[in-house]
Amino acid sequence: MKIAVAKGDGIGPEIMQAVWSIFEANKVPLEYEYVDMGKWVFDKGFSNGMTPEAQQTIERLGLLFKGPMETPKGKGVKSVNVTARKTWNTYANKRVFQTLHGVDTVFSKAGIPIDITVVRENIEDTYGGIEHMLTPDVALSRRFITRPGSMQVIKYAFEMARQKKARRITCGHKANIMKITDGLFLECFYEVSKEYPDLKADDIIVDDLCMKLVTKPDNFDVVVLTNLQGDIVSDLCAGLVGGLGFAPSANIGDHISIFEAVHGTAPDIAGKNIANPTALLLSGIAMLLHVGLTENAGIIENALLYTLESGVHTGDFGDKNKAAANTTEFAKTIIANLGKKPKFNARPVIPNMPGTPAPFKLQQNAMMVTKGTVVETIVGVDMFIESEEQPQVIAQKCQRHAGVKFNLVNISNRGTQVWPTGSVYTNLVNQYNVRFETLDGSPLNQVDIIGLYVSLSGNFKICSLELLNEFGDKRAYSLAQGQ
Ligand code: NAD
Repeated sequence: MKIAVAKGDGIGPEIMQAVWSIFEANKVPLEYEYVDMGKWVFDKGFSNGMTPEAQQTIERLGLLFKGPMETPKGKGVKSVNVTARKTWNTYANKRVFQTLHGVDTVFSKAGIPIDITVVRENIEDTYGGIEHMLTPDVALSRRFITRPGSMQVIKYAFEMARQKKARRITCGHKANIMKITDGLFLECFYEVSKEYPDLKADDIIVDDLCMKLVTKPDNFDVVVLTNLQGDIVSDLCAGLVGGLGFAPSANIGDHISIFEAVHGTAPDIAGKNIANPTALLLSGIAMLLHVGLTENAGIIENALLYTLESGVHTGDFGDKNKAAANTTEFAKTIIANLGKKPKFNARPVIPNMPGTPAPFKLQQNAMMVTKGTVVETIVGVDMFIESEEQPQVIAQKCQRHAGVKFNLVNISNRGTQVWPTGSVYTNLVNQYNVRFETLDGSPLNQVDIIGLYVSLSGNFKICSLELLNEFGDKRAYSLAQGQ
């Protein structure tokens, strides 16, 4: 079986070399093709951080094992790491955090075992990076949460939880505030849960989750979250088991999957041969399991656990009274320990059953759409306007434009209602949301909205607009605070 390998920037080549030496010593039956991705590819003028040949190779092989990559600062380019995950629809980011004996933490010292798998949605949310300045003072980020995208990652999380024989699967969210976006994610979670009656499914508000993860981490098993919340929570979990040096990451898609460490390029220690290769090695082990190389995965992970238990460590962890091994020495110790079993949490060594990767040759982009018969009706519009005037003045002007079709119902500033009721203690910025609804309850169309836009533009600069829809009898927009 052949995979694509990108060494990465900073410490990437050093830790990749360490991992590959362990794989070679264990005769892992994988061949690899190196691909050109990362900072130096940006520097050569490839704006997405990878060469077209690299893209073709990865799409042909379906598996990418990558070192961390640097995003050049201040050049307006997007992270190649995020681009890769999004381009190839690796919709589920799985990160496993387990107690590692030999890696001291407050929990290991207290005898509290940790085995948490975080599944983070990997494509959507604010990671779309769709951002605009509406006025020189006001920045806006669009946060996409979609039903098909949520269903994909949540189904993956439930399937993985069942295979893992998880005690519990928990959805972390903020649906109490973001009722429509996080509300949709949560709705999908409980919809999928009906197909898994054998799993205990529950949900928790993400701030409460953070508090409980640091007070009772052993209560959690599998946790699924939207992208940004999942990013933050998974780094918190990395801290529970010893830090980023022990945090592996698998980006799973239906056609292409990417395995990498959670940490970055560690520029402060790059080129010194002192980086900890454990996170990349754990990611590599996850990749071996993914392709059915269970025997190699079991032997290598046992050698790693044995090494950690024996107190061998790199400079970023372990007993400071014991000299630290450098990256090469650490890898050599793991190689010497191949075949040994750790005292704690020894992994099963199951004969390899290499699976052929899924057929990944696609002819066109897949359209993911929920088939439904819901009637979509436009019932109003939110006009986002630039103005430094007081709400009452804006209301008087806007009412003149409402005409016979629209009713001015509400004006808000930063999401707080300031007209028809409000408080002078609400501070304002120079960007308002002016909400018009249908005057007599009859549906509106896009021509009506454009008519209002043209009329209103006589008085204001309109920064953007959003239609107010009803799907069936369900309101498909949020109310302003205080409305
Ligand atoms: P970082 O993870 O590179 O480093 C944070 C700290 O952790 C540093 O002190 C570093 O020395 C230490 N550290 C990280 N990995 C280590 C290891 N294996 N062994 C020992 N110590 C380790 O985060 P950063 O400094 O914020 O980011 C540096 C660069 O990495 C940035 O350009 C960022 O965009 C990029 N980055 C890439 C990825 C990725 O490729 N998936 C992820 C995160 C950051």
